[in-house]
Amino acid sequence: MKGKANVGSGDNPLRVAIIGSGPSGFYATEALLKSALEVRVDMFERLPAPFGLVRNGVAPDHPKLKEAILVYTKIAAHPRFNFFGNVTVGRDIAIDELRANYHAVLFACGAESDRRLGIPGDDLPGSHTATEFVGWYNGHPDYRDREFDLSSEVAVVIGQGNVAVDVCRILGKTADELKHTDIARHALERLAESSIREIHMLGRRGPAQAKFTHVELRELGELAECEPMVNPQDLKLGAASQTELADKRNRTAIKNMEILRDFAARPRANKRKRCFIRFLESPVEIRGKSRLERLILAKNRLEGEPGRQVARETGETVELNCGLLFRSIGYRGVPLPGLPFDERRGVLPNIDGRITDEKGTVLSGLYCAGWIKRGPSGIIGTNRADSVATVKALLADIDGGRIDTAIKQGAQAIYPPLAARNVRVLGFPEWQRIDAAEIARGKPVGKPREKFTRASEMLALLD
Ligand code: NAP
Repeated sequence: MKGKANVGSGDNPLRVAIIGSGPSGFYATEALLKSALEVRVDMFERLPAPFGLVRNGVAPDHPKLKEAILVYTKIAAHPRFNFFGNVTVGRDIAIDELRANYHAVLFACGAESDRRLGIPGDDLPGSHTATEFVGWYNGHPDYRDREFDLSSEVAVVIGQGNVAVDVCRILGKTADELKHTDIARHALERLAESSIREIHMLGRRGPAQAKFTHVELRELGELAECEPMVNPQDLKLGAASQTELADKRNRTAIKNMEILRDFAARPRANKRKRCFIRFLESPVEIRGKSRLERLILAKNRLEGEPGRQVARETGETVELNCGLLFRSIGYRGVPLPGLPFDERRGVLPNIDGRITDEKGTVLSGLYCAGWIKRGPSGIIGTNRADSVATVKALLADIDGGRIDTAIKQGAQAIYPPLAARNVRVLGFPEWQRIDAAEIARGKPVGKPREKFTRASEMLALLD
């Protein structure tokens, strides 16, 4: 029997290291701190600023979604919570060092990379991932210096999820519509000079299969200087799609169709920009001499049972001249040094949040939650139930004696090696000073905050 009766007591608190400070990391923290045990949570974040995609992914013009930060800040105020900002696990501190000093290490580090199209020209200059653009306009330090050529008239967004809609909307909005949001200053300045007049959002399947949700889609019809364009022919549905829509549980698709029909029926408003929402087209090649010039699209038809329809090329192709392209076809997790990785799904292999090796054997004391556990799907709140489930598995493992429950040192053993490696660790109160400075910088320009977009700026403010 490995278990030790008093883990989770005052003498032997349950020590958990959480990697990543986005929604799933904070919801796991909350679930742990609410448990009946005495728990100490240390959260590691590679950036100086916490909150993951809520800060760096949620669109600046969706402030309501960012209110989750208030909840996370409350969780962080718990006396048994500790924040290690500006610390990269796997570089500044090894996973093995964490395993030695915590009962459990829980990875909630999201999906930081993108799925690839895998077509010729994928990487031609002018062709970008949506992640880069989203990071850039949100002031993520990794993407701060990316360049997007906004001097051409036509931009293409591949994919029809909510990220694609975010990208279309940010490209479609005027500077006036964005200037009172927390959009990064560099992005606002560049977008204000944008020459983009046409945005094409391309779906490989039909309108009934689009992944965006109706609230987000509707917003594309409410922009000051950009109107949505939908070809009514594209809204004629085959029998299988009609069956899909006849199912009342398919509420999002039903609502999406209503909105798309409204868009298609609208008389032209002659706004300065147009956003074309197109269906049944797959990119097959990105062409250009030294940079992106045009996109070759295969026309598709749908095949398969209702609910499982896939796109099949018809053999017909069309060309689309464009100067800017964003691939918005889904995020993907990144492997961590020393941990197994499911290359096919882009996640950590796991059973109910318990990380396993490639053969499916559970690795004691290692857990995961959120997008690195289940893949990039769902809304912010989806991660709450997901993190709670992982914490439940962790607590059950303690109960069942499946975790090494010897006394662990936790943070006390982690600060010295970080100091020896000259890592400038940021605590949560230091982040709150940065937060206050950002809010103060935003005030004179009517923004909720003016973000610092470089780690060095944030550290300079503190030092
Ligand atoms: P997503 O919802 O999974 O959408 C991915 C899109 O890419 C789908 O239209 C998919 O089409 C398409 N796609 C995939 N592979 C493709 C290929 N090879 N060629 C052409 N198209 C391809 O992903 P996401 O937009 O990145 O969003 C991730 C999650 O974050 C979602 O759950 C989303 O709802 C959420 N999110 C929410 C908000 C919000 O609430 N406002 C904002 C942003 C993101 P198929 O359907 O045919 O696979």
